[in-house]
Amino acid sequence: MKIESLEDLREDFIGEKRVHIFNAGPAALPLSVLREVQEHFLNFRGSGMSITEISHRSTLFEEVINDAIDRTRRLLKLSDDYHVLFIQGGASLQFCMIPMNLALPGRPVTYINTGVWSTKATKEAHVQGKDVRVIPAPEDTDFSSLPTDFTVDKQSSYLHFTSNNTIKGTQWQQFPDAQGVPLISDMSSDFMSRPFDVRPFGLIYAGAQKNLGPPGVAVVIIREDMLKRVPDTLPTMLKYTTYRDKKSLFNTPPTFAIYVIDLVLTWLEETIGGLTEMEKVNKEKASLIYEVIDESEIYQGVAEVNSRSMMNVAFRLPDEKLEQSFLAEAGNNGFKGLRGHRSVGGCRASLYNAVTIDSVKSLATFMREFEEKS
Ligand SMILES: *Cc1c(COP(=O)(O)O)cnc(C)c1O
Repeated sequence: MKIESLEDLREDFIGEKRVHIFNAGPAALPLSVLREVQEHFLNFRGSGMSITEISHRSTLFEEVINDAIDRTRRLLKLSDDYHVLFIQGGASLQFCMIPMNLALPGRPVTYINTGVWSTKATKEAHVQGKDVRVIPAPEDTDFSSLPTDFTVDKQSSYLHFTSNNTIKGTQWQQFPDAQGVPLISDMSSDFMSRPFDVRPFGLIYAGAQKNLGPPGVAVVIIREDMLKRVPDTLPTMLKYTTYRDKKSLFNTPPTFAIYVIDLVLTWLEETIGGLTEMEKVNKEKASLIYEVIDESEIYQGVAEVNSRSMMNVAFRLPDEKLEQSFLAEAGNNGFKGLRGHRSVGGCRASLYNAVTIDSVKSLATFMREFEEKS
């Protein structure tokens, strides 16, 4: 795979074929990955078929999925008692599979509620009649900050939290102390953006379309001891054990999505050089935009400073009219996807792994120029 150089990017921008993608999800993918897909699409590894036409039982596809699993294991330094699974249905199906598979009989489940996505996750445990305990975000901050001081019921089956809150742009810098209870995390919007210690985690999941690949699949990392909880009575497709036993090939998996994930992981390992390197780049990108916000008279950050996300920078302008003209002018200048989530409005720049420093620098410059003019 070719290393993505700035020259490559410029070539595309000059041709006006590509824009700066700040989408919240589906989101930017590394240009070198897209090129690789394009170049080999009609004849995948000499098969004379495209990746979307070959059998999911073929050796060729097995190589792809095994490579994606191996790379995930290496990038996260997973020990042998963790399994890497690919499950369709996005992060949202995990909201329901988690309580279904992992709530222990007669014991509560605990959720830290830090925004829209954790609220949705919590709802799925309620729907199933589980004994749900909720640790709320600080009151009156409207999800712009994270809870700091809380106790977890030691009887809890698990403690669920959202590592990065995609909509309001808050992120746990240090993961919550689970106080001995297995941690479960929705890492959809910051998975593989930084290194972390997986050992406190019983399960980690991420919808691929934010930081890892195209839509169509969630990556689930689950520890062996958690699998012992899975009730026999669940439908086959909703049991984590099915995906472990059949190596995510019980039925036809989303082959194209898994293939692109494997390419993104290859890029992460070989071009970027792993998660420590990725984190450095991500920190630099985020600080470029937060710097503009902190020095500005018109941009106001949504998240409280010590809860700020490296991945999603949410900000507002003084009034709706100025926001609209900012978004329109940004769009005209090739900066796409900056509109905030429909539930909160405002603006949001998603700076996932594949968004280049070059794109972020250009956005920072654009924001400064826009402020000077307005
Ligand atoms: C986008 C997102 C989801 C929803 O993902 P789907 O794959 O669409 O179900 C869940 N959690 C977080 C944190 C997200 O950012």
